[in-house]
Amino acid sequence: MNENHLRLNEQAASFAPPVPAVQTYGLSRAYGSMTALSNLDLTVNRADLFGFIGSNGAGKTTTLRILATFLTPSSGRAEVLGHDVVRDADRVRHLIGYMPDFFGVYKDMEVTEYLDFFGACYKIPAAVREKTVADVLELVGLTEKRGALIGALSRGMQQRLGLARVLIHDPQLLLLDEPASGLDPRARIEMMAILQELQRMGKTIIISSHILSELQTLCNRCAIIEKGRLIYSGPVQGVRADSQAGRVFRVRVSTDMARALELLRARPEIVEAHEEDGRLRVTVREDLADAGVVAETLVRGGARLVELREEELGLEEVFLRVTKGETQ
Ligand code: ATP
Repeated sequence: MNENHLRLNEQAASFAPPVPAVQTYGLSRAYGSMTALSNLDLTVNRADLFGFIGSNGAGKTTTLRILATFLTPSSGRAEVLGHDVVRDADRVRHLIGYMPDFFGVYKDMEVTEYLDFFGACYKIPAAVREKTVADVLELVGLTEKRGALIGALSRGMQQRLGLARVLIHDPQLLLLDEPASGLDPRARIEMMAILQELQRMGKTIIISSHILSELQTLCNRCAIIEKGRLIYSGPVQGVRADSQAGRVFRVRVSTDMARALELLRARPEIVEAHEEDGRLRVTVREDLADAGVVAETLVRGGARLVELREEELGLEEVFLRVTKGETQ
């Protein structure tokens, strides 16, 4: 890992309380009469790998474009590392690296030439640009392709080159809009590994994606938005509790299943119970009940309990439960 160009963030190495990298206050944006973003209050801490989740049209790109200073809010405001994205737009641009969902690459340029060009745009002195370009290429695993024409790179390599481009000025915050879209599984995994490495280096990363299972393992915190409104923001693990999706248990009994279901359904803490694949699937209210309630209900009612285990709800399932699939 080359850390000469991409500095380690000292904050990340310590156990200091979280410091916000991004804060939005009542952030709203309308396109004509259509409200794309409504009163968004969001906090992303430094060194977070933050998943930004929402259906098509939920307002993710609009939010990222405002943070990247390409779009002004209709009302409310946003700060990046303490700088207002409208008033201090120039300063913010040097602190962020924004990778849009669709970006053009200059297919007839060589990889090194392309990065050198963007380095020059950021006014990186010619004397250090060669080293800077080599550093970012190493980070994204494209050193061997430095002399290749961009048009000859695979889609995955072009995405990684896009990432190298937004790293050229050593930004502290990365805003990545669906960086792994259209990539095959291997290329996605490679991209995710690079993002984890960047987080270890102390970068703050906001990543929007539709592949929720991937975000679940990758991100430490996330936000879910729907129709421009925030539904959840916090630790990835906290989504389930906050969504009141409930805890789900798989139960096997050696006695009459219909009777067991009757016992369970009589308890107010149990949201729902049904038979599935020879077992009972029982959803309990997160705040009121746990495995003990399920076991006690069955045993007291005379049922014989053979197996009781909790089912992990994936981010995908929770997302489907808390959103109504509504777009604008
Ligand atoms: P996707 O996952 O499809 O990229 P998104 O969550 O990024 O969606 P946005 O692109 O922010 O959503 O769009 C939010 C809403 O604003 C959508 O209804 C979209 O049609 C609308 N919208 C976005 N850009 C414009 C524009 N320039 N003019 C008019 N409406 C727009």
